[in-house]
Formats: sequence, C-alpha cells, structure tokens
Amino acid sequence: MSARLLDGTALALQIRQELRGRITEFTVRAGRPPGLGIVLVGDNPASAIYVRNKLRAAGESGFRADLEQLPASTSLDDVLACVTRLNQSDAHDGILVQAPLPASMGAGAAQAVFDAISPDKDVDGFNPTSVGRLVQGRAILAPGTPSGIIALLERSGIRIGGTRAVIIGRSDIVGKPMALLLMHRDATVTVCHSKTPDLPVISATADILIAAIGRVAFVRRSFIKPGATVVDVGINRVSDPAQAREILGAESPRLADFERRGSVVIGDVHPEVAEVAGALTPVPGGVGPLTIAMLLSNTLKAAETRLGRGSKVLGF
Ligand code: NDP
Repeated sequence: MSARLLDGTALALQIRQELRGRITEFTVRAGRPPGLGIVLVGDNPASAIYVRNKLRAAGESGFRADLEQLPASTSLDDVLACVTRLNQSDAHDGILVQAPLPASMGAGAAQAVFDAISPDKDVDGFNPTSVGRLVQGRAILAPGTPSGIIALLERSGIRIGGTRAVIIGRSDIVGKPMALLLMHRDATVTVCHSKTPDLPVISATADILIAAIGRVAFVRRSFIKPGATVVDVGINRVSDPAQAREILGAESPRLADFERRGSVVIGDVHPEVAEVAGALTPVPGGVGPLTIAMLLSNTLKAAETRLGRGSKVLGF
C-alpha cells in the first residue's frame, strides 16, 4: 500500500483564496486593510525565514503587514513596550511575536510576552485567555498549526469523530492545542511525550497519529496501524549527507536539495511509513503552509471581530 499524500500547499492556497472576498469587504468597510504586526527579536536564521514567509503571504493576500525588528541585546521590557504599542495601535488587528526569543532573555520571557498580547489580537493563540477559551471549546483564535491540521483532515474527508487519535508531543504550541481541537471534534485522544512507556504500541492504536516531536524520522513503520492517517509536523534540518541518504533512500529526488542547499528538511516520520499508512502529510508541503494560512485567517477574524461583526467560527 502507498499512502495518499495530503497536500497542504494546495489547501493553503485554496484557503487564502477563500479569504480574499472577506479581506476586500473588510477593507471597504473599515477604510483600511486588516493589519498584522510581527515582532522579531534577535538573529535566529530559521525565525528570519519564517517571519519573511509570513510577511510575504500577508502582503500578497491584501493585509497590511509590519515588522518590528529588535536586536538580540533588547531587554524584555523593550519587547513588552513594543507589544503594548501594537496593542494600542488602531491599524493592527493581529500581533505575533516570533518564538524563540533569545536565550539571554531568560526562560520565562516568551510566556511573559504572550501574556502581554491583548487577547483580541492574539493571532497565535498563546495568551492564557486564548488557551482558556480553547479548553472550553469556544476559541475564536486557536493556534495556527493545530488549526491547519484540523482543516487538512476535514477538507480531505478524513473522519475525526469517533476515532482514536494519538499525539506524540505535548508542547503548548502544537501537542496540547491539537489534543483539545481533536477532543472537541469527538476523537478519543491520547497524548504521548518523552516519558511515555511503550510508545510504538500506543501509537499503533491510532486511527489518526500526529507526530510533533522535533526528532528526525523518529516514527517508524512499527508505530503505524495499517491504513491510519499520519500527520507529520516535524521540521528537522539534516546536514549530514549520509544520514539524509540513509533516511530518504539513495534514489530519492530530494537528495538534489542537498546539492543545492547543503541540507534537507526531513519530518518526524520516516518515509517507510508511506508503505503502511492510509494517508500521510509530506514534509515539506504538508502542515507548514497551513500554519501561515491559519495565521492569515486568524488575523482576518480578529479584524472582523474588532470591527464589530464577530466571526463565530471555531478554528478555520
Ligand atoms: P517541543 O520541543 O516544544 O516539544 C517536543 C515534544 O516532543 C515534547 O513534548 C517532548 O516530550 C516530545 N518528545 C521529544 N522527544 C521524544 C521522544 N524520544 N519520545 C516521545 N516524545 C518525545 O517542539 P514543538 O512542539 O514546538 O515542535 C515539534 C516539531 O514540530 C519541531 O520539529 C518543530 O520544528 C515542528 N513545528 C512545525 C510547525 C509547522 O508549521 N509545520 C510549527 C511548529 C512546530 P517532553 O515534553 O517530555 O519533553
């Protein structure tokens, strides 16, 4: 069996096209486009790429998108002051602070910043008010990556209600909100982490398996119930050519990426899983593009809500 590939790039494009009419309508009614403010602190190269992609996607879709770039030496107080300015700005409906913040700011810095974002502009959904609303099943602004996964499953005709879902990873940005969104759609959810015993056995009970671990090709064939849907959230950059060849196979066309860039991105799921799973998200081109589409969807919802015509949609 060869798994059906769930194309996140195509769905992200479709979702962005579906937003166009509402973006135009908002712009006419408000006399300005919906606005997104992104705060980037420091010089983490991966963060710079993520932020550039978000700004470009927002600009192309008709949003106003502004970058507040601060040096790595910035104090936490300065970042908080920047968030306060965006909270008070009439032109900005959504605020995103790109994680991670520089380690020198201290372990609690990111949460302190998320706490400071006004809940009605919290397009990443990491503020405690947003998290509480998500727990209660009445989120307007749910985190982008798990919302994108729900959209991908639902639009691909994959049943969630009544299924058994297993999530590997319990982070605040993926694993936990993913569990809540699946539970609110009547899946029976198990969340696993680094201290979970018998992980392959538990994973193999899943009709829907979500891997959000950050470990290259960690999920092997033995983890998979035949025919299961497997969602690979992991983004792992592999720069050892021997490791890439061993995982992808010597004939893989993706090894050409290596020649061009000196590295290749591989998910948390080993490619051999495609022989057992019923459906699988590719890396790249699966979950990643949907995260950005959901950010835009959330920014528009925040803008509409601020304008007084609240969106009642949960997730996308
Ligand atoms: P975190 O590092 O915050 O969390 C990783 C989770 O995986 C933790 O709960 C950890 O367990 C668990 N874990 C680590 N090792 C093991 C193991 N050996 N066995 C079982 N569980 C393990 O990562 P994130 O949730 O932020 O991200 C996960 C991956 O998804 C990363 O590759 C990241 O780059 C990617 N990502 C992709 C996005 C996209 O748009 N496609 C968006 C966000 C993330 P414990 O809690 O016990 O430490």
